[in-house]
Amino acid sequence: MQRQKIREILIGTNNKGKLREIRDLIPKKVKVLSLKNITAKSPKETSKTFKGNALLKARYYSKLTGKICLADDSGLEIDLLNKAPGIYSARWSGKKNNFNLAIKKVFKKIKLKDKNWKKRKIKARFKCALAIYGPDFKTVSVIGKIEGTISKKKLGSRGFGYDPIFIPTGKKITFGQMRPEMKHKIDHRFKAFKKIRKFF
Ligand code: IMP
Repeated sequence: MQRQKIREILIGTNNKGKLREIRDLIPKKVKVLSLKNITAKSPKETSKTFKGNALLKARYYSKLTGKICLADDSGLEIDLLNKAPGIYSARWSGKKNNFNLAIKKVFKKIKLKDKNWKKRKIKARFKCALAIYGPDFKTVSVIGKIEGTISKKKLGSRGFGYDPIFIPTGKKITFGQMRPEMKHKIDHRFKAFKKIRKFF
């Protein structure tokens, strides 16, 4: 199947923050559609991988609308926790999306593994999978990642999710302390997007 340049794309997310970030990455000449006027439940994220979940969301929203759809799945992997929370990153924040709770859980689990953890570097990375699925379009899925460490305490009030506890390699501040323009030039979503830019 030939891959023609995409002229119109549906972003398969109900998260307004993600929609804004992805919209900003797509060239202005492309018409971006959102799920705003579509009343459908989100699909269950049943895959064990970021790519699998991104793909199942892209396929689901594409089949629902007949449009080419871009969907993502992302999360934080902490090596000491055997890569948790990973694909469960959003789920650790509970039904109310409480990331104070999720971050407390991270610190608690790290401490259980090693009570002297603050004396060492706790390696972690954010990963983002992006998938495009649509009629007459050869399916594509990619991964972008950014390596870093877990900070000893919550720092900064910018960003979202686990941003206040993630220090990217080579920097001295957390994503939560960083200006968004700076974060968005180096983060996992941007790196994944670079790999699919050629399709637009
Ligand atoms: P999902 O991709 O909607 O399943 O959820 C991804 C979850 O991973 C988010 O709810 C955040 O908790 C976390 N996450 C992904 N990317 C970032 C980021 O850039 N900063 C902070 N947390 C993130």
